[in-house]
Amino acid sequence: MTPRIILFVFLALLALGPLALPPFYVTLLNYIGLYALVALGLVLLTGVGGLTSFGQAAFVGVGAYTTALLTTRADSLPAWLAWLGASPWLTLLAGLALTLVIAYLLGAITLKLSGHFLPLGTIAWGLSLYFAFGSVEGLGGHTGIPDIPAISVFGWSLNQGGSIYYLIWAFLLVAVWSTQNLLDSREGRAIRALKGGRVMAESMGVDTARSRMVIFIIAALQACASGWLYAHMQRFVNPNPFGLQMGIEYLFMTVIGGAGHVWGALVGAGVFTVLKQWLQDWLPKLLGQTGNFEVIVFGFGMVLLLHRARSGLWPVLTRWVRVKKPVRRLDMEAEPLPRKPMPPRGEVVLKAVDVTRKFGGLVANNAMNLEIRAGEILALIGPNGAGKSTMFNQISGVDTPTSGQVTLLGHLVAGAGARRIARLGLSRTFQHVRLLSRMSVLENVAIGAHLRGHRGVLPSAWRMDRPEEARLLAEAARQVERVGLGKHLHDEAGSLALGQQRILEIARALASDPCILLLDEPAAGLRYQEKRELAELLKKLRAEGMAILLVEHDMDFVMGLVDRVVVMDFGEKIAEGLPAEIQHNPAVLEAYLGGVE
Ligand code: ADP
Ligand code: MG
Repeated sequence: MTPRIILFVFLALLALGPLALPPFYVTLLNYIGLYALVALGLVLLTGVGGLTSFGQAAFVGVGAYTTALLTTRADSLPAWLAWLGASPWLTLLAGLALTLVIAYLLGAITLKLSGHFLPLGTIAWGLSLYFAFGSVEGLGGHTGIPDIPAISVFGWSLNQGGSIYYLIWAFLLVAVWSTQNLLDSREGRAIRALKGGRVMAESMGVDTARSRMVIFIIAALQACASGWLYAHMQRFVNPNPFGLQMGIEYLFMTVIGGAGHVWGALVGAGVFTVLKQWLQDWLPKLLGQTGNFEVIVFGFGMVLLLHRARSGLWPVLTRWVRVKKPVRRLDMEAEPLPRKPMPPRGEVVLKAVDVTRKFGGLVANNAMNLEIRAGEILALIGPNGAGKSTMFNQISGVDTPTSGQVTLLGHLVAGAGARRIARLGLSRTFQHVRLLSRMSVLENVAIGAHLRGHRGVLPSAWRMDRPEEARLLAEAARQVERVGLGKHLHDEAGSLALGQQRILEIARALASDPCILLLDEPAAGLRYQEKRELAELLKKLRAEGMAILLVEHDMDFVMGLVDRVVVMDFGEKIAEGLPAEIQHNPAVLEAYLGGVE
């Protein structure tokens, strides 16, 4: 079945819902819609971005309380605020604005935390906000705020479950649509790259701190909108639905549905809500007594699900229904992206002067000097632990030298950070491949072109980025073709052999339009024929004026290819020269033989 038909059937059923179903089920569907809106934010934040938040219910509360307060207590508010109470639509804007500010401040404090500190941080502020709802005078304490007016749309009052139903689901569908658009864009790739690790994303020019903040704020705004709808559906709020337990349940829904999938939010919210309702109805009848048995059964169910279907129900469903994945349409006629001018052949592109890097007492790089020119391939070789990768990190901005300086195209860059260095025209691959294995080859390579696009979050969410997106994808496709992976364009990156994944990283680096390439062991894992093809590619790049620095263990590969060799041992440069000279250098032979035992 094609996704289009499934979507059509789903929308038709949705539209008929309130006409055909008894009110009880309509209310249930209302709740599912409200929950799914929050879970959708968590799909982006947790499933895609890898940031776990237990505190989303608090943002729902911010949305609900803002509108409750403004629409019912306008007379006791200062005049500059009171006018907002005139219409729920104004209070929605007020709630979103307030949420934006709160999320920004909370994000600025918590998003820097890593590992389990971030979820703990979200629990902390989730609790604070929850208790604020109950304790702040004027918010009605635990009795809450009653008499919230209904929302009206074009003079039509949505004062019944069946009418607000359409508004709730319209909000949800718009949110699903824009989230899906966002994920399918330059910004979305930057967000998805967060899971590939900060080092990789920053090396491709992605501002990871910004991407984290973006998804945090979007998730908060969606939760706020859900709270606004909730307040006007119930016409009453109190703190209960905005506590930590609900924060945990939102996370459950997201995981049940499939944390990485937009539609998973809907499935998760649906299954969670229906199952909970059903257990609440039936367990007391079966067990003949009341109690919170549904929570216990539910807990076991969750554990079982996490065992059986770690990525949630959505992937299981799509496999079961056999949804055909739509193939990306590429517009190879799209106007090519502009290119940076290449430095003239022979010009020094990168220069490292006396670069020293100490780790405590260990000197991993000691007064290292290097120089690479445009149109030259320089190999950095040396036994394991010699300090080659450390040197790479000093040059590419992943690390800061203890002392010494690095100059890239005349700019001093030591300690400038990977993003700035990428912007200047340096791109790299990694010794341990860093790809997003569930994303296609094409999309992985498009991450490399991040800095060549400019469209931000809103244009992406509303599909106003298509011309630029077509150019970025066409460029990515050209680079995939160029490195010889053309027939794998739409395959998942994780399905390629390791050697091919290394080549894929080269395509990703090339997509950034670099003038210098740093390749950490590019030939490792390649077959003979693949190595020859790689050598041909590197020669071609050299002929175009690219400067290439490569770390490589395969001496046959290096000797036939490179112009000069720098040999390191124990953090120091022990030799430098033409490949033929290096092969007979006594110090080099000693270092290598000494390393072999
Ligand atoms: P190579 O890439 O030549 O095999 P590396 O640059 O990875 O060598 O490592 C050089 C030395 O620096 C090794 O002794 C390694 O243990 C040490 N080293 C590298 N990174 C760190 C770090 N982050 N902290 C402490 N020691 C490190
Ligand atoms: Mg290394």
